Amino acid sequence: MRLTLVKLQTTLTGKIFDVDRIRDDFPILSRKINGKPLVYLDNAATSQKPISVINAITDYYKKYNSNIHRGVYSISIEANEAYEKAKENIRAFINAGDVREIIFTRGTTEAINLVAYSYGFTHVNEGDEVLISAMEHHANIVPWQVLCQQKNAKLKVIPVNSKGKLEMEEFKRLLTPKVKIVAVCHISNSLGTINPVKEVIRLAHENGSVVLIDGAQAIHHTNVDVCDLGADFYAFSGHKMYGPMGIGVLYGKAELLEAMPPYQTGGDMISSVSFEKTIYNDIPLKFEAGTPNVEGTVGISAAIDYINEVGLDSIHKQESELLDYATEKINQIEGVRIIGTAQNKASVLSFVVNGLNALDIGIMLDTYGVAVRTGQHCTEPLMDIFGIPGTVRASFAFYNTLAEVDIFIEALKSAISTLKR
Ligand code: PMP
Repeated sequence: MRLTLVKLQTTLTGKIFDVDRIRDDFPILSRKINGKPLVYLDNAATSQKPISVINAITDYYKKYNSNIHRGVYSISIEANEAYEKAKENIRAFINAGDVREIIFTRGTTEAINLVAYSYGFTHVNEGDEVLISAMEHHANIVPWQVLCQQKNAKLKVIPVNSKGKLEMEEFKRLLTPKVKIVAVCHISNSLGTINPVKEVIRLAHENGSVVLIDGAQAIHHTNVDVCDLGADFYAFSGHKMYGPMGIGVLYGKAELLEAMPPYQTGGDMISSVSFEKTIYNDIPLKFEAGTPNVEGTVGISAAIDYINEVGLDSIHKQESELLDYATEKINQIEGVRIIGTAQNKASVLSFVVNGLNALDIGIMLDTYGVAVRTGQHCTEPLMDIFGIPGTVRASFAFYNTLAEVDIFIEALKSAISTLKR
């Protein structure tokens, strides 16, 4: 009964969600691993790509590959148009007010570094503070740590409770006038916790702090409206949202970006250069030095079209159902403890098994064709807080099925009994 519910459901917008049909869009999902169907449950690390994204990228190389910006010939103009169209598609997707607020980066990591080095180095001074949370990915820790070390500023950390929920009362206490920047994730990659980022931004703004939201795990799970959130900066990666690797986005409020110095320098980010002096280009080009990843922009745009076609409400519904079902099943296995039990969670299921090493479990699961991630998930300080060396993490996408959850659970049971022998 449950299976049919998930396979064919009518969404709020009246669209039919047919998971079998959706799976046909993803060629990799028909692969066999060790003679068994691939059960891909590492979507928080990277998502698989629909054929429309793959085709958009190959089309670019087959039909109009060329460098953009100053090309006067047809295929360069086509490539330039594709790049501009991608920016507009992203603007609309996150409801930014102005396309100049969209900057292409290599990914979330580069987007956060851009803000830390450009905004951070010009606004954070000795004695100031930067506030992050205990559940941040290393990409949202290390750039701020480097900034604070170099500026003699202090990095402070909002604690999480035993369920993996942000301690909002502690956040309010830590939010002093010294805090110049607050940087938190929208959704935790290790725990799945969905943070109340709108409230975080509201409180930080009341305090006069600027806010960066690491949206790497949120952009493909939930409707992100940067205007409604009020975020000053919002960062995400193409490869987590069914697009290619090596492309990402930094959204920044125009008035902040305009006042910020460039992060990298070279071609394209200038409007005029002499040996004595350089005049920088306007935003967003001021932050896009060098030949852009045109292939990536075409791919991320096709990924957005794909998400829009499926619908974020259908995606959310399917992923919630998978998470609930997997959580219920895994809770029945003796010795398994879920890490990250906040009520408001995305489809990430992190767990430890009494007496067993996460890595061994991951390797065993692969023999059943089940791909999961094991270890610290680039959140070593968070693992230290939970007092564990790492977890096994199964993360679900809308193209996963309840039948795959069953395969995963059975494989996990077998792995545990073999490893315990
Ligand atoms: N933040 C979070 C929450 C993430 O999950 C990731 C990717 N694992 C990153 C930042 C870094 O993203 P990327 O490696 O694509 O730059």
